[in-house]
Amino acid sequence: MLQKTSHFMREANLIGGQWVQADSGATIDVINPATGLKLGTVPKSGKAETTRAIEAAQKAFESFKKTTAVERSKMLRALHDAMMDNQQPLAELLTMEQGKSLTESKGEIASSAAYILWFAEEARRIYGDVIPSPWGDRRIIVTKEPTGVIAAITPWNFPSSMLARKIGPAIAAGCTAVVKPASQTPYSGLAWGALCEEVGIPAGVVNVVTGSASEIGKELTTHPLVKKITFTGSTDVGKMLIEQSASTVKKVSMELGGNAPFLVFDDADLDRAVEGAVTAKYRNSGQTCVCTNRFFVQAGIYDRFVEKFAKASGALKVGPGLDDGVQQGPLIDDKAVEKVEEFIADAKAKGGKVVTGGNRHELGGTFFQPTVISEATPEMNFMKDEIFGPVAPIFRFETEEEAVSMANDTEFGLACYFYTSDLGRAFRVMEGLKYGMVGVNEGLITTPEAPFGGVKESGIGREGGHQGIEDYLDTKYVCIGGLGL
Ligand code: NAP
Repeated sequence: MLQKTSHFMREANLIGGQWVQADSGATIDVINPATGLKLGTVPKSGKAETTRAIEAAQKAFESFKKTTAVERSKMLRALHDAMMDNQQPLAELLTMEQGKSLTESKGEIASSAAYILWFAEEARRIYGDVIPSPWGDRRIIVTKEPTGVIAAITPWNFPSSMLARKIGPAIAAGCTAVVKPASQTPYSGLAWGALCEEVGIPAGVVNVVTGSASEIGKELTTHPLVKKITFTGSTDVGKMLIEQSASTVKKVSMELGGNAPFLVFDDADLDRAVEGAVTAKYRNSGQTCVCTNRFFVQAGIYDRFVEKFAKASGALKVGPGLDDGVQQGPLIDDKAVEKVEEFIADAKAKGGKVVTGGNRHELGGTFFQPTVISEATPEMNFMKDEIFGPVAPIFRFETEEEAVSMANDTEFGLACYFYTSDLGRAFRVMEGLKYGMVGVNEGLITTPEAPFGGVKESGIGREGGHQGIEDYLDTKYVCIGGLGL
């Protein structure tokens, strides 16, 4: 087993300010995907520990809801500063459990801190309304109150920043939280608990429980004290959590799967499109919900795009995330590698041509070559299913209508990208694409200032932007009569 990387690597649940093991003493192993070696363990908790965490969060809520916006803003600023002061150890921990390059991990920690700072600022802008009354002797006001205990469940691909978008608005609004990080990457989630403790956020405001997803998830979605569930992960699990949450009519926010299209028109700036394509495809080895799943390239620029993009893809440095200059780390596990191999085999059987890559990387383990497949067709599996790996299928199209229609031919609607230098086309295509987020001549668009989220089966609600706090607030209409006016 490897040494702990820092005091942020906690191997216990945080419940009501206490670091505790599972009642049964059972644990889950956490593996470093770059080496296949065990990093450590975390508690394998279930229903009982989750109930206690919910009760601790409710107890903390009774006093936390009375804190002022300025107090909560200061707490979040302190949390931001603590993250940036510890960017290196937090990033190393993230790379060791998740695999992504240290550069990307440092970027993720900085992004987490930026979301926290954004919500520190938003905490002071939770406004209500005063509405002109239709009655002469009554007045109408509308206030915003914290929703209560919120539950958050997050995936392994962004183990730190997916929680920033949930813990940040919860604290800003005056809510308290029970958090369940992904079992493959729990340490960055537990580190949030350690950071909150370090900066003096009261005990019980942020509770972290690791363990059985189905048991913890069932309790979080059915316990009456939990008022809201916020989930980032696959569409299948999201649908199930929505169903479970119906029994107690909880608010739900869902950040689910994507099937991002990336359109390149004949009039695009080719170099810029290739640069954007590399970013939009290979970040986190293709394992992000906003990674391009399908490239659609117009016939006049198709061959040149394929050639340049394949060259840029083949030049990416693959290796362990902690090594200098590495741009692509390993995939999360063997299953992910097998899935990528199935997509490639299916495409080859249906006439796809592997232009670069196509195989497991010579480093072994779960390392995989960045792969470009030309002559992709709608019959291939990646037209409908999320690849979640470093494979870039390139479809050919003739007309703008055809491209928009193919891009929209999916039940998902998270992020999309397109490249053109024609202003009229930019507006037509932007308005035609049925997605929650659009990058026009840009391949990386996430920022705390903007609302992140999807339409269709990609989700419900938005994270970040001024919208990001709304789901953590209840609206209360107050009619004041008998004023004798
Ligand atoms: P996942 O299998 O849905 O897991 C996500 C989280 O849900 C994990 O914490 C997991 O716990 C938990 N979970 C699994 N089964 C559960 C159950 N029955 N009840 C309650 N919780 C349960 O997704 P993933 O493979 O980790 O993540 C990849 C997916 O997330 C992709 O589809 C990607 O597009 C999506 N994603 C979306 C966004 C977005 O913002 N829209 C961002 C990132 C990722 P365990 O780890 O313990 O199994």
